[in-house]
Amino acid sequence: MKVGFIGTGTMGQPMVNNLLKKGFAVVGYDVAPAALEAALRLGAAPAGSAAEAAKQGDLVITMLPSSAHVESAYLGPGGVLEGVARGRICVDMSTIDPGTSRRVAARLRERGVRFLDAPVSGAVPRAVEGTLTIMVGGDARDLEEARPALAAMGTNVIHVGDVGAGEVAKLCNNLIAGVAMVAVSEAFRIAEGFGVDPKILTQVISKSSGSTWVMEHGHPVPGIVEKAASSRDYAPGFMTDLMAKDLGLAVNAARELRIPVAVAPAAQQLLRLASSHGFGRKDFSSVYRFLEPSSREAPV
Ligand code: NAD
Repeated sequence: MKVGFIGTGTMGQPMVNNLLKKGFAVVGYDVAPAALEAALRLGAAPAGSAAEAAKQGDLVITMLPSSAHVESAYLGPGGVLEGVARGRICVDMSTIDPGTSRRVAARLRERGVRFLDAPVSGAVPRAVEGTLTIMVGGDARDLEEARPALAAMGTNVIHVGDVGAGEVAKLCNNLIAGVAMVAVSEAFRIAEGFGVDPKILTQVISKSSGSTWVMEHGHPVPGIVEKAASSRDYAPGFMTDLMAKDLGLAVNAARELRIPVAVAPAAQQLLRLASSHGFGRKDFSSVYRFLEPSSREAPV
């Protein structure tokens, strides 16, 4: 089976690599030449546009930054809709707003093309291992058809509900992960201020009620978790700007539903501030770097 893979960036590259390793042929496309070249080095064939990649693929996969990119890659000039054949399945694995997934799905349906939203959790290390969690919205039979390709990239492929439901699950997860990272960063800054060894604090928290996945795997303090982005000068990983976007998706969804949310917007604003101070393209654990104490002369 040949997969048309559109968006061969940070996540797309290891995902393409796993598809190739599991015997799929891949034809790749990315607007950024460096990202496309990286996919070609892995063994993908090149396409000159999203339409061309979609035309050549038996299955189309997209892994793009945000809702606007997905909308334009599917519906814009040279987009998927121009190339994809009737009856094909398109799987969008980007993290975007569920409303955009539904809109794109509706436009594809008019042409007899099927659509699944299938965002992922696990970031780069699990994309590399092929052990992503993939949460899927759309028709269950379409998922069964696409499952072999998804299983090449992830170990937990979960059907959540109709189109858009995968994105809902993803934004709920990232609301928790984004807020937790800010909380862990604040806690470790306080401990540091009191001279408590962050390694010992990590030991304590990992056996206590504050234990969280982001601390265990993506510790914001360098040198504690070897695999964490903080131990590589916060090279992403998962960029601050992307997490700020995801918290924004959660906040927007809550606003539409008239659900009060207090901590998600606070975490989002902190990540935005971190971004405007140069941490936008660093891993989102760099919010810890941003949360430096004021000078000792500052009034308390
Ligand atoms: P990225 O910016 O590294 O990669 C996205 C790629 O899409 C880029 O190479 C970009 O040039 C390309 N692109 C943009 N518009 C395009 C278009 N119209 N046609 C073709 N290519 C286009 O981002 P990423 O980290 O790979 O993330 C992709 C998605 O996955 C995002 O929605 C993100 O929120 C989600 N995600 C990322 C991680 C992570 O750890 N990086 C984890 C889980 C989910």
